[in-house]
Amino acid sequence: MSQEKFTVLVTDKVSGGALEPLYADDRFDVVQIDDSSDPAFTSALGEANGLIVRSATKVRADMLAAAPELTVVGRAGVGVDNIDLAAAAERGIAVLNAPAGNTVSTAELTMALILAMVRRVAEADASVRGGEWARSRFKGAELRGRTLGLIGAGRIGGEVAKRCRAFGMDVVAYDPYLTDDRATELQAERCELQDLFERADVISAHVPLTDSTRGIVDAEAIAKMKKGAFVVNVSRGGVVDEAALGDALQSGHLGGAALDVYENEPLEADSPLRDVPNLLLTPHLGASTAEAQELVASEIAEAVRAALADGDLSRALNAPAIGGEALRALAPLLELGKGLGHLGCALAPGGIQQIDVRYAGESDQALKPLTAYVLMGLLEPVLGGDQVNFVSAGHLAEQRGIGVARTQLSRRTDYTEFVEVVLKAERGDLRLAGALLGDAHPRIVRIEDYHVDIVPAGTFIVLKNQDVPGVIGRVGTLLGDHDINIAEYHQARLSKGGQALAAISVDGDVDASVRESLLRLPEVSAAVVARLG
Ligand code: NAD
Repeated sequence: MSQEKFTVLVTDKVSGGALEPLYADDRFDVVQIDDSSDPAFTSALGEANGLIVRSATKVRADMLAAAPELTVVGRAGVGVDNIDLAAAAERGIAVLNAPAGNTVSTAELTMALILAMVRRVAEADASVRGGEWARSRFKGAELRGRTLGLIGAGRIGGEVAKRCRAFGMDVVAYDPYLTDDRATELQAERCELQDLFERADVISAHVPLTDSTRGIVDAEAIAKMKKGAFVVNVSRGGVVDEAALGDALQSGHLGGAALDVYENEPLEADSPLRDVPNLLLTPHLGASTAEAQELVASEIAEAVRAALADGDLSRALNAPAIGGEALRALAPLLELGKGLGHLGCALAPGGIQQIDVRYAGESDQALKPLTAYVLMGLLEPVLGGDQVNFVSAGHLAEQRGIGVARTQLSRRTDYTEFVEVVLKAERGDLRLAGALLGDAHPRIVRIEDYHVDIVPAGTFIVLKNQDVPGVIGRVGTLLGDHDINIAEYHQARLSKGGQALAAISVDGDVDASVRESLLRLPEVSAAVVARLG
């Protein structure tokens, strides 16, 4: 990317003013064609080094094939569903997005919905328009002195916390990555998810949609909430179980709810949600302000400029370099690194502050990409698989305040390819290790001080239990009763009759109720479930 002049094609009515970073740099020619079905767009595409779109233009494989000079696609916004990331990676085209520009707009919409819910604004408006003057019917509640339960305290959650504090609310937050410092800055109390459900008057979700957040607010969670509590979801459809929410509003258990995002968008015309009482519905308006559109456009213009002119791909969402032969040869080692990252994310005692990736093996090029893969595994369950990749993982870790170190170890005699991951988390350290058997078969070989030997794939249960007769049988029976098939069961202990650790790999998913049943076994003191890929 070290050429002198670059052409950037901009479509989908991205405002010209926001493209200042590109216009101000005389190495750039900017071509704006608002409608990508215009034949002029297709011919300009043939020359373009960069392309900036919003959501209307679908950047599919055929479009990329018609753009031989293209090296960067920028999405003015967060979601990249309209861009074929794999096809772009295949062609070595980096895809960038602009995740920060709509933070305040989305936080402000959240506040609008919370206030409208607790003061029943929409319903009162409809009533006055219907000719009524029913003041007593719309008695609301004050926010002052009430508790906000924040699920996810990242960019948007953090801004919502500050605004709710300004309204005199207490804030409790559940976010596995929330550090003490950030909680103090937000004047929020960290708490466990179940406590949050029980304590909060208003529950607001600001998380990506991942395996761990899908249905995080489900029937069981809602049943734990106070009678009359309010729920708002401005994050992603699927985070709140729509059917369970509808039932809790119909039965009067919840005082109200507001949704900006849905399991299916656009919301079906005959969706039962449209008839649910005390439910506010908005059509995915979080980022729909003039300011957010400007901010995301200038954020992406700067990112595309830096990518083309400086080769800065730290904001890339796909992995353009992965096609390289050297990386292909490292694939089993990298997959092992990612598996260790996933396991580290699940087992770390509290927010992760520091990670050291240590490698002993034959390659002198492996350590950097290996570290990126460990970070991917660590961050994917938290940020969502489509928001983190090989290129962006280091940058995202840095943004989250995670210190990253890499250590080349001297060669070992027991394994030719060996990876150790040492995590420093808020409530302690965690040490994991993996190795390749016969150059291509990844195994997890150590969890804390326990020696195990298990393939890092599928669903993994890690149990701590007392080393007494019959435990393995009882765990096996319990899993069998839940129709869960065990692929591998590895039990390790430090001393006879002391504490033991079981690493169990199973087919299919393990839901929270199975984990709770495992924890009810008298010998079991800890149970963690992780998906390793
Ligand atoms: P962010 O990455 O800054 O914050 C997300 C937070 O969720 C992180 O702090 C992460 O640690 C936390 N998290 C991840 N998994 C969790 C879990 N299982 N439990 C609790 N916390 C968990 O993202 P953001 O910019 O604040 O965006 C939050 C959400 O809002 C995203 O889903 C985004 O797509 C959505 N969004 C919606 C709109 C809209 O128009 N409605 C606009 C912008 C963003």
